[in-house]
Amino acid sequence: MIAVYPGSFDPTTMGHIDIINRASNIADALIVAVLANPSKSALFTTDERVNQLKEITADMPKVQVTHFEGLLVNFAKEVGSRVIIRGLRAITDFDYEFQMALTNREMNSELETLLIPTSAKCLFLSSSVVKQIAMFGGNYDKMVPPVIKRDLERKLGGLK
Ligand code: ADP
Repeated sequence: MIAVYPGSFDPTTMGHIDIINRASNIADALIVAVLANPSKSALFTTDERVNQLKEITADMPKVQVTHFEGLLVNFAKEVGSRVIIRGLRAITDFDYEFQMALTNREMNSELETLLIPTSAKCLFLSSSVVKQIAMFGGNYDKMVPPVIKRDLERKLGGLK
């Protein structure tokens, strides 16, 4: 089974890595797909986010990293996948994820969404929380892999 894990990954957190690890245990191949979304202002460029994920998953043979634009259903079809992976934190994620899953299935009835519940330690972890802590000089060492810490320091150092 080829699965696609789409998202903004701006930047990748331990929460995303947890989902990547667990999804690649059940899939034969996992395509991590960074959404190049022109309407969402991101801290990192699409290329930067793709390269970060490539570095992070370099030792995971089942994982490929790429980016996509436009509709996820079209991208999934292009890469021959019928399974979308998404992570669920609190109940607040559920509404949005459920709506997206139904919308995508409406557009392609062969497409299934697998919602993977987060690990307890990642429950309150999000890219925006990490960015806020980093901007205000707090400690976020346990929330991201070293690749992201390095790039956040570079990026935010450059913005000062
Ligand atoms: P998007 O903008 O598409 O929501 P994100 O990069 O914020 O992109 O998230 C991508 C996916 O990863 C979503 O399904 C989100 O719920 C999931 N995710 C993000 N953080 C966590 C976490 N800490 N634990 C589990 N899943 C997570």
